[in-house]
Amino acid sequence: MKKISIVIPAHNEQNNIHPLVNELQKVLNSTGYTFEYIFVDDGSKDNTLNEIKIQSEIHPEVRYLELSRNFGKDHALQAGLEMATGDAVITMDSDLQHPPEMIKEMLRYWALDYDVVYTYRAEANAHAKKYQRFSSKMFYKGINMLSDIELENGIADFRLLDRKVVDQLNLMDEYEIFFRGMVKWVGFKQKAIPYTPANRFSGEASYSFFKLIKLALNSMMSFSVRPLYAVTGIGLFFSLFSVLYIPYVFISYFFFGQTTASGWASIIATVAFFGGLQLFVLGVIGMYLGKLFMQAKQRPNYIVRSSNLVKTGNDLIEL
Ligand code: UDP
Ligand code: MG
Repeated sequence: MKKISIVIPAHNEQNNIHPLVNELQKVLNSTGYTFEYIFVDDGSKDNTLNEIKIQSEIHPEVRYLELSRNFGKDHALQAGLEMATGDAVITMDSDLQHPPEMIKEMLRYWALDYDVVYTYRAEANAHAKKYQRFSSKMFYKGINMLSDIELENGIADFRLLDRKVVDQLNLMDEYEIFFRGMVKWVGFKQKAIPYTPANRFSGEASYSFFKLIKLALNSMMSFSVRPLYAVTGIGLFFSLFSVLYIPYVFISYFFFGQTTASGWASIIATVAFFGGLQLFVLGVIGMYLGKLFMQAKQRPNYIVRSSNLVKTGNDLIEL
């Protein structure tokens, strides 16, 4: 019988663990596959880990990884994917916003030989506020423009991955992990299905506004060097402009005696503009350099503090 691993990152989700496991059990028991749950406690400050441990005593197929601190959702997902042993892996949030019912549909497509079945938010997203909808749209527009992959608006970390895709993702030894992009990048046979997110069952979303901006910038940059080309283009444009403009200045000075001494405002404006532009371009280059620096340090993307499983080859042994 084929085995499915469900990888679930959790950060301060103490009241969601029990209802989620209940919902998943209801859906999964009728599918004819065997299952394992891999909860990744991403440095929760509340009782999340204990709640998971309680579930693992009731259901032997519940496994957990406790990370040593909060590493962020994508790194938590990475930890879970590396520990998963299933023939397919499903990743989903722990706040019940990703409807467990949809797993059946994913499994149907998997049986039809799709390697990746991923979800995106159906357009009518009644729960999001206006500015959230707008900023999320801008985020995907930006990413599609600046990188070499095409992401659907509202693409989610709720997806099924075949074993061969998981193996491929596990080989990608990147510091800046952005699964929504990486899964697209690896290719294979992919199927997108829309979903309507439910309300968060309990607790609050962990992402603040600034965290989201940082995430957006990082994801764009880790996916492409196109911003570097863009600033090179801007630089080139202005150098060409000055190549034409400088002879004009000299000719009007030497041959026509024009010194345009009254040009203070235009000089200040130009100096300020180019000063700003240069700093901006340096900043873009610097951000890439920073990424190289972080990658060169080869630090682990996550550290496991405790777990009820260890991986040996392709098998998990329970401790
Ligand atoms: N999460 C995590 N680490 C973090 C932030 C979030 O593991 O640093 C988990 C969280 O527990 C949830 C999922 O990632 O299962 C999505 O987070 P959240 O609901 O806060 O964000 P949103 O629904 O707005 O995407
Ligand atoms: Mg959520």
